[in-house]
Amino acid sequence: MLSMTRDKENETTQTRGLIKAVAVIPGKPNTIHLRDVPKPRVDDVPDGRGVLTRILRVGVDGTDKEINAAEYGAPPPGDDYLVVGHECLGRVEAVGPSVSEFLPGDYVALTVRRPGSSLYDRIGTYDMTTDDTYFERGINLRHGFLTEYVVDEPEYIIRVPGNLKEVGVLMEPMSVAQKAIEQAYRIQQRLRVWKPKRAGVLGAGTLGLLSTLVLRLRGLDVTTFANTAPPFLNSKLLEELGARYVSTKEMSLTDASAKYGPFDLILEGTGYSPLVFEAMNVLAKNGVLAMVSVTGGMRQLEIPADKINLGFVLGNKVAFGSVNANREYFESGVKDLSTAELQFPGWLTKLLTHPVTGLENYGEMIRLLTEAKSAIKVYCEVATIAET
Ligand code: BGC
Ligand code: ZN
Repeated sequence: MLSMTRDKENETTQTRGLIKAVAVIPGKPNTIHLRDVPKPRVDDVPDGRGVLTRILRVGVDGTDKEINAAEYGAPPPGDDYLVVGHECLGRVEAVGPSVSEFLPGDYVALTVRRPGSSLYDRIGTYDMTTDDTYFERGINLRHGFLTEYVVDEPEYIIRVPGNLKEVGVLMEPMSVAQKAIEQAYRIQQRLRVWKPKRAGVLGAGTLGLLSTLVLRLRGLDVTTFANTAPPFLNSKLLEELGARYVSTKEMSLTDASAKYGPFDLILEGTGYSPLVFEAMNVLAKNGVLAMVSVTGGMRQLEIPADKINLGFVLGNKVAFGSVNANREYFESGVKDLSTAELQFPGWLTKLLTHPVTGLENYGEMIRLLTEAKSAIKVYCEVATIAET
């Protein structure tokens, strides 16, 4: 049995060749490392539907930090390592005979989640799964994108126009913002008329900035909160969008809401869960609160429960959670990225503050992710866009 497995491994290595990948050993903290993995092939996907993509850029975020700290994440069955990275831009290298959606040379981004078995998974809304187990590339039970090549089905791949290639690595965080905001608008169809005027965005990192952008493109008056005092790059970027920046060091959400609110829509994306309850308290009547922070901790909190409850009941308010995104939101994300490039030329590029060149510099990448206070997006240039 053992020798059979070894033979198979040898054969795989010889016929496929090896590529580099950045991986962790889930369950053990600080195990990020470079390793060789078998090169994927177009025919790994059945029925001629494979799309082999060369990875160009991969962004990292708080989830990757948690995965490397062994607070989150699991390897695919049969492996003890997990290739990390879930925000990617790539270029199609080869396609199977039954793929009409893509041509070699196309720039693309890949979705993160892969379907389980619930009804929602079966209709393409795997981001809404009701299964206990979820499969996410680079996060949970599926290898990710911090490697040289990946293969997948067209369903999970979105074309990125060539003119967006410099900012295409923002597609995944953009899709998360798109989903939360689109869901908020759909939920608000419960009101016969909903004309939101003011929005509050909690958090001014990549997700907060992109959410602010999306809401500004929809014409809302946006106030974006973070706990850093201006001027700093993020506050300048918000100004360029015509949004207001509030440092919670200088003014609380409650005070800012009295001054600039009430907010018809609030998006909470700071990762600091107590803010959710303060947001509930200040949300406008008929308002909607989108919660997008993945908070892995065990924080406890005392809250004014009667007051929040009464405000929700008498104000017909809604709060909802939003995770991940299916291809629909990547597609709307491409459109908003395109509009943003026309309306605020060069703005998106300014989010790409900390590039790291080459997979072998994963150590520097993790260091920037954990230590660089001024970083908006840390990302790895796996291959140079110009050379591909
Ligand atoms: C990713 C999402 C994912 C979530 C939970 C986030 O960092 O961007 O795609 O669903 O983590 O694992
Ligand atoms: Zn993420």
